[in-house]
Amino acid sequence: MPKGRCAFLGLLLLLPWGSARAHTAEEPMPSVPELRRAEANLENARAARRAAEEDARRAQERVERLRALYARGLVARREVEWAELEAQTAQARLAAQQEVEHWAEQALAHAREYAERAAHRERLSRRFSQTVVRIARFSGSGRFAFGDLAALMRAYQRRFGTPLPISAFGQTPTHDRLGLDHRGRVDVALHPESEQGRWVIEYLTRHGLPYIAFREEIPYSATGAHIHIGPPSLRK
Ligand SMILES: [Zn+2]
Repeated sequence: MPKGRCAFLGLLLLLPWGSARAHTAEEPMPSVPELRRAEANLENARAARRAAEEDARRAQERVERLRALYARGLVARREVEWAELEAQTAQARLAAQQEVEHWAEQALAHAREYAERAAHRERLSRRFSQTVVRIARFSGSGRFAFGDLAALMRAYQRRFGTPLPISAFGQTPTHDRLGLDHRGRVDVALHPESEQGRWVIEYLTRHGLPYIAFREEIPYSATGAHIHIGPPSLRK
């Protein structure tokens, strides 16, 4: 008689209760393998619940049968009681499996929700990076002479009290490596969205001087955010 109860307790200890709490809002998005695992868990839980249902149904049938036999005096009362206890155990096992299935359903729903949210975020960031203007071009008069640069340097020094941060004056090894003709062009190490960067861009625009404002690294064209002054570099 206690054998069934022990088996039931043992079963309870083996149930994966922890899996139901696998995902909370703070945890990272599940990868696709996690989604697959949640699907497989639910599948297993459903199969186990169906098996438990079948067991419970059979145990109940056995109880009915033994009760009928007992009424006709064909079996001992103890046998009926034993079958009843087994039916109860099977019923408890079924209830536990239904609970497991319920948690597995929840875990899968969460995994799907997070995967969808991650996919949505991925789509958004892709759209965003496509629409962000990484380069601003201004052709102006198309001409840029040393006198223009000297005037800009003086104006900048007056405005900010520091020299214009020129990072490349004409051709440099970096431009050689990138295969760009940078002769007669100047790079200024300012982020185009910084205060100084915006001031320089405004100055160039006002004076009709050509520039290209790089907001980030462009493969094979620029090494980082800067303002290129002069006509675009030709590919060598
Ligand atoms: Zn440049």
